[in-house]
Amino acid sequence: MNDVPGPPPESQLLAGLARLGQAVRMEAWRNAGPHKLSPLQADIVGLIHGSRAALRQGDIVAALASTPPTVSDAVKVLRRKELLAATRDPADARAVLLTLTETGRAEAERLNVMSESLGSAVATLPEGDFAATLRGIVTLMRELQERRLIPVSQMCLTCRFYVPDAHPPETGRPHHCNFVDAPFGDAELRVTCPDHELP
Ligand code: SF4
Repeated sequence: MNDVPGPPPESQLLAGLARLGQAVRMEAWRNAGPHKLSPLQADIVGLIHGSRAALRQGDIVAALASTPPTVSDAVKVLRRKELLAATRDPADARAVLLTLTETGRAEAERLNVMSESLGSAVATLPEGDFAATLRGIVTLMRELQERRLIPVSQMCLTCRFYVPDAHPPETGRPHHCNFVDAPFGDAELRVTCPDHELP
């Protein structure tokens, strides 16, 4: 019996993920909004919005796996657009802490609304496929994080409040979040969560 043509399955999976990444990036360009944000500028606004504390520029570089000059340029533009405010870091006179202005917070709220086209495409996945896809993605992300190929993100699998398989599988909600003291299933795994804490 002949193999099906083309590169091996692992390459097919990575090619598929790359195509999905392209789709998300293209949608970010289309959703530039009233402040004409680039995808990186939008990522910075979203990152600061999802963070409990003000961030240094270095935190943003690490979280977005970018470079200092690239983030520095984007931060300058965001400050010019009056979406970001900078204050001196009391712990380090050479560093500044970045927060969102009121306009920046409003823009973050706008960006938080899921794109209609991407959201409706995701909604076509049957419930079981959705949960399995999310579980596969976070498992792969954790593996890449452990290999230091991507930054650690605020996801359940790296959170001190996450207890996997704490409840019988037949409940459909086998995991437990100790932050809210509630069970949850694969379909509710968080890739990014404001209450995440590292162990
Ligand atoms: S606090 Fe957030 S990241 Fe942590 S286990 Fe709960 S839902 Fe997941």
